[in-house]
Amino acid sequence: MTRKVLVVGGAGYIGSHMVKYLLDQGCSVVTLDNLSTGHRDAVLGGEFVCGDIADSRLLSQLFTAHRFDAVMHFASYIQVGESVVKPAMYYHNNVANTLNLLHAMAQHGVPHFVFSSTAATFGEPAYVPIDEHHPQQPINPYGRGKWMIEQALPDYQHAYGLTAVCLRYFNAAGAHPGGLLGERHEPETHLIPLVLQAASGRRSHISVFGTDYPTPDGTCIRDYIHVTDLCDAHWLALQYLWNGQPSQNFNLGNGQGFSVQEVIDTAREVTGKAIEVQVSQRRPGDPVSLVADSSLARAVLGWKPQFTDLKTIVSHAWVWETRT
Ligand code: UDP
Repeated sequence: MTRKVLVVGGAGYIGSHMVKYLLDQGCSVVTLDNLSTGHRDAVLGGEFVCGDIADSRLLSQLFTAHRFDAVMHFASYIQVGESVVKPAMYYHNNVANTLNLLHAMAQHGVPHFVFSSTAATFGEPAYVPIDEHHPQQPINPYGRGKWMIEQALPDYQHAYGLTAVCLRYFNAAGAHPGGLLGERHEPETHLIPLVLQAASGRRSHISVFGTDYPTPDGTCIRDYIHVTDLCDAHWLALQYLWNGQPSQNFNLGNGQGFSVQEVIDTAREVTGKAIEVQVSQRRPGDPVSLVADSSLARAVLGWKPQFTDLKTIVSHAWVWETRT
């Protein structure tokens, strides 16, 4: 039986990889994206609808025209710093519009939801690696908004039978191993693509936000998880829901932390370029270390990330950066 999936935000970085992945699995895919930050040419197949989840009429039309086996929701604003300056924009899109989507799903009896959540729902880590029992005390509107949706979802299960998996990404990174897709944020704020832009000459240097953190080399530590491994986890989450399992939240990282300095050193090795570094002030709101404990996803979903080596992650991103 062919499964039909609605991918909201399927023209964005992770969403576009997921659309391709679902097509490769033989699913029927509809992408809904307002193209505010995504790219139409990143949607490599299926049906494409340009529109917004704020548009209740459009959602009603979509859910009447198609009987979806699940909705995957990737469409959100993602910049922590921007969320502090423009909280209204973040709560409006990431919370109110998501509730609008859930309302339409409940009305039309769409049974399952896979939600892109984030490590930012945890706030300052009380301990690392961070498991699902770690207290959730988000410290910015981005994290708070995602956490609000996480908290609302059990009520939708209780009242409407809508089961959901929330996947809390740590640092999504890398690119399609075949070079078909990659990260294209404008403006780019993420470390790996920025470092590689400095290597390719699209930028003069990379700024390192703080070298005085209490880590071995003084720079922040993050858990970089390959976008293909994220797609694997989403696919397993769909199987889990389709098997009738209850709602669940999972932390997704590769379990290894790499410092900003290690990322730069790896990029130098992969690219053979010098990469100029300028040391800057700490960026407000950056926790010193964020590393996931993903044992629950491994145990319950059977998830096994393949591309955990930083060199592989950076190599795939470099192929994308240097595409012609
Ligand atoms: N970072 C940096 N320079 C940059 C961008 C990021 O030093 O130009 C650091 C940032 O302070 C953090 C790490 O790289 O410690 C990862 O940041 P990113 O924005 O990629 O992801 P985040 O962890 O904020 O989700």
